[in-house]
Amino acid sequence: MPELPEVETVRRGLEPVLTGHVITEALVNRPDLRWPFPERMAERLTGQRILALRRRSKYILADLGSGESLLIHLGMSGRMLVSGAMLGEFHHDHPAPAKHDHVVLTMDSGARVTFNDARRFGSMDLMPTDHAAEHPLLAGLGPEPLGNAFHEAYLIGRLKGRNTPIKAALLDQRVVAGLGNIYVCEALFRAQIDPTRKAGALSAETVASLVPIIRQVLGEAIEAGGSSLRDYRQADGELGYFQHTFRVYDRESQPCVTPGCPGIVGRIVQSGRSTFHCPICQR
Ligand SMILES: [Zn+2]
Repeated sequence: MPELPEVETVRRGLEPVLTGHVITEALVNRPDLRWPFPERMAERLTGQRILALRRRSKYILADLGSGESLLIHLGMSGRMLVSGAMLGEFHHDHPAPAKHDHVVLTMDSGARVTFNDARRFGSMDLMPTDHAAEHPLLAGLGPEPLGNAFHEAYLIGRLKGRNTPIKAALLDQRVVAGLGNIYVCEALFRAQIDPTRKAGALSAETVASLVPIIRQVLGEAIEAGGSSLRDYRQADGELGYFQHTFRVYDRESQPCVTPGCPGIVGRIVQSGRSTFHCPICQR
């Protein structure tokens, strides 16, 4: 499942193909994905210039000349394919239409962006750009973890008195937007915080230490995604998934990488999801 860095990588890969360009043809091959597509979606996209491509949490927003914005969510298995344009140093020819190609945008440059989603947990919607922040998927989201509104005093205030484990508190999208299981595990490991500790029981100093660490963990992953974009070899021009090594995530039974720590990475289940942690150095 794509997390914030993967979505940001997709956005950066799409940006040169979409921003400033006009959608000359929009092909919408089915009436819905997770939810129904908006009415007359193809018609509302065709002929529109894309003024900007933004990201909010795990959503991509394309602001159109019409004053509407196209919201794109990759869901569990959504893939964005770019063809007929340079991607990094590589050019991908248009692929033959494939099963699960649900939406295909052809641009005035001749480039094509294909949204393919086998499991159909993704979604697309259109709304007025001025009211994008009020969209049901975006309203109530907390600050962006890489933005200025996410800072030490904010997080200390937000976690004060909370009885939930720190892991669950950081996954709460109202606290901070876009953090998912992988990067919360990584951040808690680097901060050496036991993921089962109650958020409200952590000292202000400990909570404050999480802010730069969360930014660092996400920043490194976005950097890794950026390298994958510059060196784009995947045959089909798929954006967004890249090789990235984790310090604790998915490393069950392997030695802890903290220098001098004799711990072995353990896996526990919290709220139905795997938490990877070191029982020795995370306290
Ligand atoms: Zn350790």
